[in-house]
Amino acid sequence: RPRVLSGIQPTADSFHLGNYLGALRQWVAMQDDHDAYYCIVDLHAITVEHDPAELARRTRVAAAQLLGLGLDPARCTLFAQSHVPEHARLSWVLECITGFGEAGRMTQFKDKSSKEGADRTTVGLFTYPVLMAADILLYQADRVPVGEDQRQHLELTRNLAQRFNHRFGETFQVPEPYIPPHTAKIYDLQEPTAKMSKSASSPSGIVELLDPPKTSAKKIRSAVTDNEREIRYDPEAKPGIANLLTINAAMTDRTIAEVEAEYAGRGYGDLKKDLGEIVAGFAEPFAEKVNGYLADPAELDRVLAKGATRAREVSGATLAAVHERIGFLPPA
Ligand code: ATP
Ligand code: MG
Repeated sequence: RPRVLSGIQPTADSFHLGNYLGALRQWVAMQDDHDAYYCIVDLHAITVEHDPAELARRTRVAAAQLLGLGLDPARCTLFAQSHVPEHARLSWVLECITGFGEAGRMTQFKDKSSKEGADRTTVGLFTYPVLMAADILLYQADRVPVGEDQRQHLELTRNLAQRFNHRFGETFQVPEPYIPPHTAKIYDLQEPTAKMSKSASSPSGIVELLDPPKTSAKKIRSAVTDNEREIRYDPEAKPGIANLLTINAAMTDRTIAEVEAEYAGRGYGDLKKDLGEIVAGFAEPFAEKVNGYLADPAELDRVLAKGATRAREVSGATLAAVHERIGFLPPA
């Protein structure tokens, strides 16, 4: 079975529709026919200023959401990145084969650091993509389900794998990105040319999976659209409407053409109202499941502990091979 690895940051109280449609839905589907490793990337979460108590709480909320979406610890390995020390250790080795200029070309770093300003930008934010490469390469992943925003980081990961293999001998599987064709980039409701993001979107621009249905419906009703009246899929001219059509189609498992046909001759208000109901239909049972998991934090911790033990079997073997290839003496 092909191996899959992906991660998500515990940087908010809820995942959003972009996380779900761009990545997490694929995580759930892929556990059926892949050897799947999924990771809550708390090491990545501290690359920006954070509150320790919040991080701990959000890590459990992240685990509860992943289980609530359908990850099954019997069919996939779910763990917290900080429980598996090989991630930080491989990251160091990879940093030492990454060019400074090469890392400097990562657009996510350029975007995030320009917003933070130089004094608030950490070195960890700069080396974030290398840590991400370590996350993936440790598990010899064949596929990495992510949104469009991670394409460049995946390309770096592939380059680092190939470079290491070339210099030190075949060690890493070179992974392929698995980016969904229609939902790779879900847009901010208030700014439909920018990606919906936990850290960059305003609260009214993002639909959180754990928002009360009324809140989501209200945000969707206020979504920025355009001055025309016609509902048609035209991302260039009508990015707001295109985004709503994309979300509707994905949430109802239809093609965009089918959704367009449903709304031929109807108004933006109908499209928004229906989407609010579609999201509510998803969010209500989801919130119930998540609350169920959160009611037993000790069990969540046990799931993560078991996942970390399994993850270390694979990551430990990869790291040992890496250390041997680069000339580190074996520990006695
Ligand atoms: P941040 O803004 O803090 O980076 P984020 O919303 O991008 O948070 P991440 O934890 O960085 O969330 O990403 C988790 C996964 O969700 C990644 O695979 C990423 O590509 C995907 N993703 C994030 N935002 C979107 C989006 N708007 N559309 C599609 N996929 C997305
Ligand atoms: Mg992100």
